[in-house]
Amino acid sequence: MILPTPHSAFSGAIWPAIPQSPAAALLAVLGQLAESQYLTKEQLDMARRPQVEALMDHASAQLPFWRHRLRAAGLDLKSRNQSALTMPEWNARWASLPILTRAEVQKLGEKLRVSKLPEGHGHIGESVTSGSSGRPVRIARSTLDYFYWQAFQLREHVWRGRDISGKFLSILRDERREKMDETVHLRPLPDWGAPASVVWPTGPSYLLDYRTPIAGLIQTICELKPDYICTFPSLLLEILRHARGEKIQLPPLIEAIGVGEASPPELAGLCREVWDAPLASTYTAAETGALAYQCLEGGRWHLQSEKSIIEVLDSEDQPCAPGETGRVIVTPLHNFAMPLLRYEIGDLATVGEGPCPCGRTLPILDAIPGRARDLLMLPSGELRPPYYGHGAVMKVSSIRQHQVIQTRRDHVCLKLVVAKPLTRDEESYVIKSASDALGSAFSVSIQYVDEILRSPNGKFAEFERRLEESNG
Ligand SMILES: [Zn+2]
Repeated sequence: MILPTPHSAFSGAIWPAIPQSPAAALLAVLGQLAESQYLTKEQLDMARRPQVEALMDHASAQLPFWRHRLRAAGLDLKSRNQSALTMPEWNARWASLPILTRAEVQKLGEKLRVSKLPEGHGHIGESVTSGSSGRPVRIARSTLDYFYWQAFQLREHVWRGRDISGKFLSILRDERREKMDETVHLRPLPDWGAPASVVWPTGPSYLLDYRTPIAGLIQTICELKPDYICTFPSLLLEILRHARGEKIQLPPLIEAIGVGEASPPELAGLCREVWDAPLASTYTAAETGALAYQCLEGGRWHLQSEKSIIEVLDSEDQPCAPGETGRVIVTPLHNFAMPLLRYEIGDLATVGEGPCPCGRTLPILDAIPGRARDLLMLPSGELRPPYYGHGAVMKVSSIRQHQVIQTRRDHVCLKLVVAKPLTRDEESYVIKSASDALGSAFSVSIQYVDEILRSPNGKFAEFERRLEESNG
């Protein structure tokens, strides 16, 4: 891949360019990542250790919860200084540190958040896991953590050999869309946006709101002729099926990029068949940013081990061997706003075995977690992304968890776990919001339940289609 010349800070200093900050800082990290992807496990452990220790010492200094846990594990500064720990000794102490569960993070809340960041880490913002859990976890994140995330986003462009001058179409949610109707909402943007456009001159991009019938999405793709399409895999599958079924010739594509959920098994093959293009899927989480990227050469996923310690553990909390599937435990290394040490993110993953044909030595996953989301079936039998007034449901504070089930072609049931019963007004508000979003073809009911279980792969489906009739 030949990357374009970065933006230069001075006129007459065109090539090699002298970038200004933050482009210079992003490129400097990207350069280090180009080296670290070839480290051996031992070299990686050694390089990463001071970063983990800085995070632990910061957590100990500010939060009693971590001070006690780290002292008990012998990982506080004093215990570490008493003996110069070899890496195996260090790793053994790390393995004795208890796993932090999502339930604990929800319960402890403020007790896991620091009041003061080290200098240069910026300010504290928040990420909320809503889309994939139904039971939100609120994570405080620093500006610096977000900066690292951007550097890793650049790395994915490099790994996938993307042509940054191409035309990029995202079919995702446009938060700025106000009117909900069945028309196409397309927003042209001058470039690919941060971080790519911060560093390089890029081609144009477009944001197409996904809340549009499939035929409208396809028509827009045909008119725009994008080089890259980034969207939910379930939606991509429906676009491809619809185009094939209706014999619509889609314009050629360089790469399809699936985000936000797992790719259905047949999707990569269908992308090849229809577009002769590869499918890229990424394992990310709202709490942590990117966890694993798929390399072009081997097609499997490499852990982003410079950004997080990612462990895959069996039911006895022992590391899984290649071929085994276990729980994903993550320690994000750069988020000092809310240090999460050995956080169980709620996903399952299958460990892969090297070497990879791409030559990178970062650990491998054979499969990335997640489940594809279901689409809503209209009375006509056509499929559409499920938009049902998610925002309204999240606004009612006594709703702890929700799941939306389509039970018939004209009926949708909202399953709710509540802290206290909803008032009549709250009930009508939730039902009206859902009815407005779904359209007049659907009736909506509420069902109160004690618990909503995750699927066997650990993922939670916010929307499911479980039609009682046989033609679903
Ligand atoms: Zn590889």
